[in-house]
Amino acid sequence: MRVVVIGGGAIGSAVALFLKRLGGAAVEVVVVEPDPGLARSSSALSAGSIRQQFSNPVNVHLSQFGHEVIGNADAWLGVDGAAVDLGFVPGAYLFCATAAGMPVLQANHAAQRAAGADVALLAPADAATRFPWLNTADLALTSLGLSGEGWFDGYAFARALAAKARSLGARWQRGRVVALDRAGDHLRAAQLDDGTRLEADAFVNAAGPWAGAVGQLAGLTVPVHARRRTVFVMRCPTPLPTLPLVCDPSGVWFRSEGPIDMAPQAPAAPAPQGGANRLRAAGHRFIGGWSPAEGDDDPDDLPLDQPDLAQFDDKVWPAMAHRVPAFEALRPQRAWAGYYEVHPLDHNALIGPHPDCPNLLLCNGFSGHGLQHAPGAGRGMAEWLLHGAWQTLDLSAFSPQRVLSGQAFVEQAII
Ligand SMILES: Cc1cc2nc3c(=O)[nH]c(=O)nc-3n(C[C@H](O)[C@H](O)[C@H](O)COP(=O)(O)OP(=O)(O)OC[C@H]3O[C@@H](n4cnc5c(N)ncnc54)[C@H](O)[C@@H]3O)c2cc1C
Repeated sequence: MRVVVIGGGAIGSAVALFLKRLGGAAVEVVVVEPDPGLARSSSALSAGSIRQQFSNPVNVHLSQFGHEVIGNADAWLGVDGAAVDLGFVPGAYLFCATAAGMPVLQANHAAQRAAGADVALLAPADAATRFPWLNTADLALTSLGLSGEGWFDGYAFARALAAKARSLGARWQRGRVVALDRAGDHLRAAQLDDGTRLEADAFVNAAGPWAGAVGQLAGLTVPVHARRRTVFVMRCPTPLPTLPLVCDPSGVWFRSEGPIDMAPQAPAAPAPQGGANRLRAAGHRFIGGWSPAEGDDDPDDLPLDQPDLAQFDDKVWPAMAHRVPAFEALRPQRAWAGYYEVHPLDHNALIGPHPDCPNLLLCNGFSGHGLQHAPGAGRGMAEWLLHGAWQTLDLSAFSPQRVLSGQAFVEQAII
């Protein structure tokens, strides 16, 4: 079997890795990627965080497998015994809900626990005791990851997935797919910008935010949109312990970033149990951003080289200073932008055959959580291609078929 994977970010690289891992010499894999440095790829521009806290069990399971691979990178991604440094920092997400958001947080918690996630609900008073820097006055409930969460270097992860895939025999071809040769419901070949024609039995659209444009090359609709998200790097002169990744009801998120890099340090809040003990006393650098809510203006394809700097004053700083009063003193240092790959029907991924062209497999539309789901999505895609069925994890809920019927597979915990 010959498979062409279009896009060599984390998703395409994971698909290639698992195709070779599971299929061996029986499958020939070519990954087409125009940008060897992944300079504009979401995988390199992400916030590089992983959480167990989703509302759908299958998303929890995808994260659990992601954590297995990221947390044991030497074993999964090492080539010739070399160590793999993904800069993984075990950490936690802290979801904060007002009274309006409390029922959703409770329902999510029940689903997460049933799926085996190590999470705890904390009443505002408990959250305030555990995190003395947190303003809980307007909160009704919080949810804290106790293990299986943290952050890592997304670029290093994508590169490690690719290196492992190559070591197993996948081939990388530098180039851009500029045409797809389709006969009825069958794709025959991909044509690259240098004129190369790649024929194959199956094609995987792993073009992330550009998945819609790649679909158009075959005259097919792939409803994935490139929505710019700005990430701010900030410094706070007021000493604080390492913060978890806080998801504020305003749509703003923030977390500590980077190594311990400033002194003096305030003592960390005592962490009673579990993974949150790993939240060490740390420096004062943070990253954060804002995601628009449903109905907010969120145009496609805004330029990546122009992060929305006004968001700091308009959205990010006010929310952060409200949630953590010490952040009144917050100073923005720089910002970058990347594209979320948004599937607006339900902000959940599209994984599986295109309904109008079954040998074009979609693996895109992951919104802001595709990095952590890359190993599970790549493994599933490989299983589907090699065996015609999901084997380790049923990914049928992500079927692109649902787009035709308009049946959303809603994920409540979208950041
Ligand atoms: C600001 C931000 C924060 C995020 N935070 C997180 C997070 O904390 N945790 C998490 O799990 N996820 C996060 N994400 C989402 C995550 O980064 C993406 O879901 C994931 O990286 C998608 O991987 P990908 O390989 O599909 O896409 P990409 O990494 O974008 O790769 C797609 C590749 O396709 C290539 N391509 C495009 N067109 C063509 C063509 N015609 N021919 C050949 N190749 C083509 C591109 O060059 C690109 O390299 C975040 C994203 C952003 C933008």
